[in-house]
Amino acid sequence: MQWTVRLEARTSQGEVKTTELVTFSRPGVVSTLAEIGLMLAETKTLLAKLQASMLCGQVAEHAAHHRICTACGVPQPLKDRRTRRLQTLFGTVEVDAPRFKACRCRVTTPVAGVTISPVCALLTARCTPELERVQAELGARTSFRDGARILESLLPVSPANHESLRTRTHTVALQLEAADRQVAAEVMAVRDEPAKAAAADASRPVVMLDGAYIRAVPGHQVRSFEAICGKVEREGHATRRFALVRSVAEQPHALLRAALLDQGWREGETVTAISDGDPALPALVRSATGGPVEYILDWFHLSMRVQHVEQVTEGLCALETPPLVPPDQAQIDVELLRCG
Ligand SMILES: [Zn+2]
Repeated sequence: MQWTVRLEARTSQGEVKTTELVTFSRPGVVSTLAEIGLMLAETKTLLAKLQASMLCGQVAEHAAHHRICTACGVPQPLKDRRTRRLQTLFGTVEVDAPRFKACRCRVTTPVAGVTISPVCALLTARCTPELERVQAELGARTSFRDGARILESLLPVSPANHESLRTRTHTVALQLEAADRQVAAEVMAVRDEPAKAAAADASRPVVMLDGAYIRAVPGHQVRSFEAICGKVEREGHATRRFALVRSVAEQPHALLRAALLDQGWREGETVTAISDGDPALPALVRSATGGPVEYILDWFHLSMRVQHVEQVTEGLCALETPPLVPPDQAQIDVELLRCG
């Protein structure tokens, strides 16, 4: 049997163009289960050809539209033809990027000698935002090598090694941090407006923090580094999460401060910090707020401490000398333990 996939493209002027994308063949009589249906390799070929066809068509129409002079409606003279490569989730596509001279009707204007390239103006990056986002998401969730392998095994994506995945992840991370800073700046700008200040939630923001030491890659300048992650919660606001490596972050507290400001926190307002007992974590909150912080030990680590007291009490009971306080009457001041 044989299947042919044809793509019918209709331009905005109503012109219809049909392109044959791929043809799949199978034996008339199937002998194994593996011969049934569409294969991954075939799907990747189909997607790559579909993407190339769609992208080239769209870009060509974009160039043709911008070739028309907005003043007199005549196509502007072609200067030369170039090509641009664009990396996408469905392969790298080479597109025509014609350059046009300014229209003859503008010979007396300042733009007379200017060359315009609508395609170059459109392709502001080497890859599509979607590819960048997917690579960054995989880079954040898995190792860079695994992320690159997953992408390459499932999609006809442009060849991506772990280094390009790492670069894209860092690029997106910088964009997120820049957006955070902007939000923080906007929040600071409206901070003193009485109406907005009154509308801010009266509940106190709560910062939950945890840290872990992670082994660095062999050959790195340090053997391990501390990663801190956390979230800021406040009633009536969506939870904000953040993560940082204190030893390399330029301003470790800035990320936390941006998250707090986004949650409606105002300068001087008390913040509750919940963590595992490591004094460095509430210290980070203090440096971010520069104000009062109420520190609370999280329930897991509190229970560990209580368990330790229980074990000590049981050990004392096991001794021949009767303990001063019977174990069933021993009381633990949980609030004292929890709030230090
Ligand atoms: Zn013109």
